[in-house]
This record gives sequence, structure tokens and C-alpha cells, in this order.
Amino acid sequence: MDQFVDVLDAEGVKDYDLCRSSSSINHLLIEEDKNMPLPKRRHSKTRGRKRRTHWKLGQMNLVPCPQCKHPKLTHRICAVCGYYDGRQVIEVKTKEKNKKKKG
Ligand SMILES: [Zn+2]
Repeated sequence: MDQFVDVLDAEGVKDYDLCRSSSSINHLLIEEDKNMPLPKRRHSKTRGRKRRTHWKLGQMNLVPCPQCKHPKLTHRICAVCGYYDGRQVIEVKTKEKNKKKKG
């Protein structure tokens, strides 16, 4: 212990407690780094880009609305007429209705 303090004094460290606490924190950080998963080698740009060639959108599954025959997404309310499952679910705002409110 005395030897350790002597070394610290030799290096010009006055505050022993501060030094001890900081070194213990560093020790913990080093331990954490040892357990961190890291890739062994970097991947090339081409390798990453080849992987990302599969990141693309598929074609939308559009079906004609049974009410107004306008193309709509399956299992979604029709945005044109507001119908779903044979009944009106939402009221669709149209330009004519907006004009009526203003007038
Ligand atoms: Zn519709």
C-alpha cells in the first residue's frame, strides 16, 4: 500500500482518493468493453449494399370497392365513399360540402 502511494506521489498525484475512484471507474469501463460484442472485421460497402438490395416496397394489394368500384386497399375503409363491410363507417368530406359550409 505504501508502495502504491509512493508511486502516486512520484507521478505528482496529490489527491489519492480522487485518483483511486477514477481508476476504479476506468477498471469498470474496461471490463464492460471486454464483454461488448464487436465485429471482427469491417464489412465492405458492396456487402452492405448487396444486403440492402432486398429493402424494397412490394406492390400494393388494391381491390375495387364493392360500393363505388374505386380501387382501395384490402381490409381498409374506402377513402372515396367511406364504406367498409357494406356500411358507411366514416363520413367523407367532399368539395361540395365545404362550399356549402362557407355559403
Ligand atoms: Zn368506395
